[in-house]
Amino acid sequence: MSGTLFIVAAPSGAGKTTLVRLLLEQDRQVRLSVSYTTRAPRPGEENGREYHFVSVADFLAMKERGDFLEWAEVHGNYYGSSRVWIESQMQSGQDMLLEIDWQGAAQVRRLFPAAVGIFILPPSLAVLEKRLRGRGSDSAEVIMRRLAAAQDEMRHVGEFEYVIINNELQEALGDLLAAVRASRLRLAQQQARHPELFTTLFQE
Ligand code: ADP
Ligand code: 5GP
Repeated sequence: MSGTLFIVAAPSGAGKTTLVRLLLEQDRQVRLSVSYTTRAPRPGEENGREYHFVSVADFLAMKERGDFLEWAEVHGNYYGSSRVWIESQMQSGQDMLLEIDWQGAAQVRRLFPAAVGIFILPPSLAVLEKRLRGRGSDSAEVIMRRLAAAQDEMRHVGEFEYVIINNELQEALGDLLAAVRASRLRLAQQQARHPELFTTLFQE
């Protein structure tokens, strides 16, 4: 398996969706895993693009069948990543990016120890709250629940290798691109990507 697996986590509102969308526009080698969720679509979200939106019954049936590489309950909804899709993409050498919470990240790390963990932090709690309100897509009650959950999520930053502080967007994007590029240059990744080079260079 020569693809690199990236895990991107952040408290809700830190700018993960925004940064990942920009990363995917600029780095064509990495593909986003589209998760399954039982939460309702937000305005502008399309089934199959942001998420596969499924019923609780369908999600639980998939879970029972072992269809998920990882799954978790976040903010009262279920979320899971498709095992078959991710494994087949990785096997064909494709880099994959999973936008998941810390619970899912821990499960993926056990299966793929070489996965690269990237955590996105807001510059302050006040800015985080402002961004959550500014997005305008969640009710006041949902925002309060997410703010409380944000601090729980951020306690897990120590489980990730790279930390991006999303203050100024273009600077944070530059940092994210740099982390992705640097992790592709690790010895094991380069050996897996260029096996013939590593063999021929050391021939007698
Ligand atoms: P997440 O996916 O982490 O929940 P979003 O990407 O939806 O967060 O961002 C939350 C809100 O903050 C959005 O309205 C987004 O446009 C805004 N935002 C994201 N990054 C920045 C930034 N660096 N500066 C200002 N606003 C930002
Ligand atoms: P949102 O509802 O704002 O899109 O996502 C809420 C939270 O669920 C975020 O922290 C996001 O990373 C997480 N999440 C999204 N998809 C998955 C997934 O497939 N698995 C796990 N474990 N978490 C996910």
